[in-house]
Amino acid sequence: MKKHDQDFMKRQNRLTVFQIIKNEQPVSRASIAKQTGMSPTTVSRIVSELMEEGYVHETEEQASAGRGRKSSLIQLLDTAVISIGVELDRYQVNIGFIDVQGNVMCSGSFPRTSDEAAEATLLRIAETINGLIRDCDIDSKRIVGIGVGLPGIIDVAVGVVNFSVQLGWKNVRLAERLKELTGFHAIVDNELKVKALAEQLKGSAFGSNRTVLLGFGNGVGSALILQGEIYRGVTNSAGEIGHTTVDPEGMMCDCGKAGCLQTYINIPSLLSEANKIKPVRTIEELFEERRNGTRWASYLIDRALAYMAITINNVVSMYNPDSVILSGEILDKFPEVYEEITSLCYSKYIWEPLHDSFTIVRSKLHEHGVIIGSGLIAQDRYFQLN
Ligand SMILES: [Zn+2]
Repeated sequence: MKKHDQDFMKRQNRLTVFQIIKNEQPVSRASIAKQTGMSPTTVSRIVSELMEEGYVHETEEQASAGRGRKSSLIQLLDTAVISIGVELDRYQVNIGFIDVQGNVMCSGSFPRTSDEAAEATLLRIAETINGLIRDCDIDSKRIVGIGVGLPGIIDVAVGVVNFSVQLGWKNVRLAERLKELTGFHAIVDNELKVKALAEQLKGSAFGSNRTVLLGFGNGVGSALILQGEIYRGVTNSAGEIGHTTVDPEGMMCDCGKAGCLQTYINIPSLLSEANKIKPVRTIEELFEERRNGTRWASYLIDRALAYMAITINNVVSMYNPDSVILSGEILDKFPEVYEEITSLCYSKYIWEPLHDSFTIVRSKLHEHGVIIGSGLIAQDRYFQLN
C-alpha cells in the first residue's frame, strides 16, 4: 500500500472511531472493535491517541467484558470540539461558542442597523469572535468551524445568501468571506431551520420524529424536521409560510405582494397599523395599550393571535406532525400569549380529527436556539468532511 493510501486509511479509521464514540458514548473499546471490524489493538491505539490529544476520556463507569473482567467506557470530552454559532438578525448579531453537547460555553452580541452592508457586519463578527476567544480563554485549536443562521433564502451548498429581505442583502458570499476573515470554515443556513434542529436535538421537541417549528417575530416562518433531517425543498425555501397569500386584496408585504400571512402577524406590520392611530414605537408599547384595554390595540393583537392559531391549523393539516413548537420574539417577550393561542386553537381553529394528534410546545432554547443550532450544523459538517 502506498504511503498516501495508508495515511488516508488511518484518518478514516480514526474518524470512524471518533464518530462511534460521539454517537454512542459512553462506549467500550470492545464494542467499537465489534462494530468497525477493526482489531482490538487498532482500536486501543486510536483511543489512546484521541485521549492524548484531549478528545476523549475514560469514564468511572465500567462495562462487563465477560469472564468477570471489567472494561472502562470511553466518552467524549464536552469541549473536545468547539464550534461557533452566529445568529444574524436585522437589529442584532449573537455569537456563541458551542460544545459537543450543544451547550453555550461563552457568548456575546452587538447591535446592527437594518441598512448595514454585509461587509461591515462580517468584519464586526470576525472582531467579536476574536475578542470572545481571548476573553473566554477558548482553545482555538479545538474550533472546527462557524455556523451562521439568518432569515432568508440561503444556498447551503456554497454558503451564499441569495436573498434576505430582513437584512437587506442579496447574493452575499457569506461563507467564503467569513473564512477569509477568521480562518475558520463557515456554513450558512436559514435561522428557523437551524433553530428547529436545535429544538429537536436538545430542546422542547427532543425525540420527536416530525416537528414543525413556527417563528412569529419580525417575520413569520416555519421549518419542518423529518426523522432528524431538515426538510429543505428544491431551493432551501420550504417553510416560507409568511408569504403564503391569505387575502389577495390585503395589506402590502415587504416582499412586494399583497395580503401575505405575515402582514397580519409580524411586528413591523402590527406597528405600522398601530401608527395609523397613534405613535407607537415598540411592540411592548402596543401590548401595554392592549393591557390598558385600548380597543384598537386589542383588535390588532387579537387578530394576530387568531392568525397564529390559523397557521398552526394549516401546518398541522398539511404535515401531520407530532409536535408544533412556537418560537420567535412575540412568544419570547410575551409568554402569556402561548396560553391564548393554544386555547384559540382548540376552541376554534384546529380541525377536529387532528385535535389529539400533536402537542403545542414553547421553544425551550429561546434566544439561544439559533446559535446552538448553527453551531451544531458546523460540527456535523466537520465530522462528515474529515
Ligand atoms: Zn410577503
